[in-house]
Amino acid sequence: MNLSSLSHELNISINELRTKANAAGFRISPRANKIDNYLAKQIAEALKPKPKVDPNAPKPEAKKVSLPAFIKVRDFADLLELPVTNVIKALIQNGVMATINEEVDFETATIIAQDLGFEVATEQTGEAKEFGIGFLQEELLNESTENPAAMQTRPPIVAVMGHVDHGKTTLLDAIRKASVVDTESGGITQHIGAYQVKHDGKVITFLDTPGHEAFVEMRARGANVTDMIILVVAADDSVRPQTIEVINRAKFTNTPLIVAINKIDKENANVMKTKQELAEHGVLLEDWGGKVIAVEISAKNNVGIDKLLEMVLLQAEVEDYKANPEGKVLGTVIESHVAQGKGAVATVIVQNGTLKVGDIVVAGTGYGRVKSLEDEHGKKLKFVAPSRPALISGFSDLPEAGDILQTIENLDEARTMATNAQKMKHSRKLTHRSSLQGDSESKTLNLILKADVAGSLEAIKQSLAKLKNDEVQINILSEGIGEVNENDVLLADSSRGTVIAFHTKTNPKAINLAKQKKVAIESYDVIYELLENITSAVIAMFTPEMEKAVFGKGTVLAIFRTEKSQMIVGGRVDDGEIRKNKPVAIWRKLSEEEMAAVAANKVEGEEDAPETGIKNYKEIGRGEIVDLQQSKVDTKEVARGNEFGMKIKTNVKMQEGDLVESFEETLKQKTL
Ligand code: GDP
Repeated sequence: MNLSSLSHELNISINELRTKANAAGFRISPRANKIDNYLAKQIAEALKPKPKVDPNAPKPEAKKVSLPAFIKVRDFADLLELPVTNVIKALIQNGVMATINEEVDFETATIIAQDLGFEVATEQTGEAKEFGIGFLQEELLNESTENPAAMQTRPPIVAVMGHVDHGKTTLLDAIRKASVVDTESGGITQHIGAYQVKHDGKVITFLDTPGHEAFVEMRARGANVTDMIILVVAADDSVRPQTIEVINRAKFTNTPLIVAINKIDKENANVMKTKQELAEHGVLLEDWGGKVIAVEISAKNNVGIDKLLEMVLLQAEVEDYKANPEGKVLGTVIESHVAQGKGAVATVIVQNGTLKVGDIVVAGTGYGRVKSLEDEHGKKLKFVAPSRPALISGFSDLPEAGDILQTIENLDEARTMATNAQKMKHSRKLTHRSSLQGDSESKTLNLILKADVAGSLEAIKQSLAKLKNDEVQINILSEGIGEVNENDVLLADSSRGTVIAFHTKTNPKAINLAKQKKVAIESYDVIYELLENITSAVIAMFTPEMEKAVFGKGTVLAIFRTEKSQMIVGGRVDDGEIRKNKPVAIWRKLSEEEMAAVAANKVEGEEDAPETGIKNYKEIGRGEIVDLQQSKVDTKEVARGNEFGMKIKTNVKMQEGDLVESFEETLKQKTL
């Protein structure tokens, strides 16, 4: 074809044609006037103006599905009319490890259905709601806006936090001894995770959580029962990593801080240095022109405790914490355990309303009628008002620290809510929760590394090199020494990467920016923890494979009953064993013609393909054994040589002579 004809056809000049065709990857020699017809056709195809897509044109309809609150993976696949393996793969690609029989919650199922091209009806069918911190805050806000006149001042709820060994426990003991409420009650002080003290006639509630971990876990779940934090900093040790963690968390949750500079009795105490370091970390104390109150104390020698309590009350007066004692009962679980003779008990701080003995409550997976209420002295209470901690007995199951407690009208409803929480918890457990996630589509994990010194950086890089593999690429986009700054966050944002901070801080602007851009900054102090998390992020990106483990097989000798989607059959186990509640593959003998066709397809001299099925049989479908009997007795498995009767859920119409192969399919996740 002449180039001029083609240029005419495309309505462009010959020069333009040459340039555009070359740019599109075709080779036209600069001297050529004619080109091959086939090439001309391809060039024309590539350079023709594309028909514009009309944005208003109707899009192909996405299939609509309605999802229940929870759904078994198998039923989910049925609902979507997709092979279950596709659904499981999609789940895993989203970081959810679930097997066929496990349930996923509405949120998870929605994401997966959308990924698979479905449109999900917004309303879930059935009841399930997570009563998390968002719910609590919303309810508390409703209480205050709906009935402002009923709101009454309540005691402040205070948590004591700080670096290990800086004196938190000693301080909590000193406060408890100094001014316990109700000492005349004569009860023995029991540890219930919180206590109240009275100072100048006013009450303060202190959280007295034993393990720091438990408290961190609770905060990780977002529970925020505290109005105020006392940050204990030892004057002989100054600001340490956990001090910084508390400062950051207080900022993040907008919780006011009061600093207790402890151990001032020690010879090497350096109050000035401590204050200066606090200022460097953004805590501006009053005598440095800021607003944060600091009190110098010696928890061990009982010095400054009164002053500290005074300051707590002063701060509380400014903030004026309120609740409606007549309103809806809402609270947060602080601790729980199984107590001898009492069953599951939990300490709850009531945040609104008044909890009474006999109320029906639900908290996480636990529900029940309140059997007894006790304070920290073991004294029985009839009711518990806002800000008061109490040990509650009467739960069906242990609630967890951080669970929200509420009262419910009837026991059935409470039970349903607790059961849903149980399922939700299970489903949540399945979800890979580290914020360190790579891009599973491009299978890359983009990292921005920041460390304290060059040596750490080197050590991290060397360890990361060991994670090299064929499937997932770990890219270190930038590395540097010093604190995490805004540039690091911006780079992470544009590359969908994660900032890794090792032994180093993040400056406050970068923290804010990261929050805004939803960029993950992961801080580590221990290399192996860093590696562990990166390793699991890499593993989560591997595409898993289904692996079939065969337990055994048997021959169907009699058909007893055929229904629409299930059959009752009898037979004998030929190999291994057959197990109840496991899937079965149903195999049928090939007909003469089919066998002849197989033989005819075989290429002379070529080796047989490795055996993947049962020789001379073909798989005609699958099912699941829902009932299994041996000698008319229910059993979980029947071994080789024995006869069985079984009920199979299947759509296949089985016949005598078919084989049933009992197996289990597990997803095999590649590891490093
Ligand atoms: P926590 O890990 O923060 O709970 O710290 P602890 O309350 O267990 O205290 C750690 C150590 O510091 C213990 O040996 C305490 O006796 C000691 N300690 C706590 N407060 C003071 C104080 O005011 N002065 C002195 N000299 N030692 C203290």
